[in-house]
Amino acid sequence: MQRNIIPSVPDYIPSDVQQEKAKMFLSAVFDLLHTELITTQEIEFVGQGENFESVSCNLCGQDISGEDWLDKMDLAYQSLFKKLNIMTSCQHETSLNDLDYKWPAGFAKFVISISDAQNVPSENELMQLQEILGMRMRVIWARY
Ligand SMILES: [Zn+2]
Repeated sequence: MQRNIIPSVPDYIPSDVQQEKAKMFLSAVFDLLHTELITTQEIEFVGQGENFESVSCNLCGQDISGEDWLDKMDLAYQSLFKKLNIMTSCQHETSLNDLDYKWPAGFAKFVISISDAQNVPSENELMQLQEILGMRMRVIWARY
């Protein structure tokens, strides 16, 4: 399994200094050969791959059908994921980034990709990483 760690705010890119510090920190926790810090031009959906199970409204818990979700993804993609705001079928205004994904997912320009799935960042390590990067981070488990 691959792990991706992304900021909770989609267009957030840590500064060079923050990224250097993060690299140093990660090298102590993970095998750096399997760790990559990636910054993309546009915001990308960082999904859970085959782990995708279901998605529901983060405000009331109502299930969102896969079809409905894909429609909204298509629409959001037209803005290159800059506009992630949606109105759900349960009439809640939220963001595709904030929906409750059964396996976490999100949108990001900055991704820490870890292909060696043996190590799991502990809560404490994740908190330290968040401090270094100045942002709340999300851990995404992807299976392809
Ligand atoms: Zn709702």
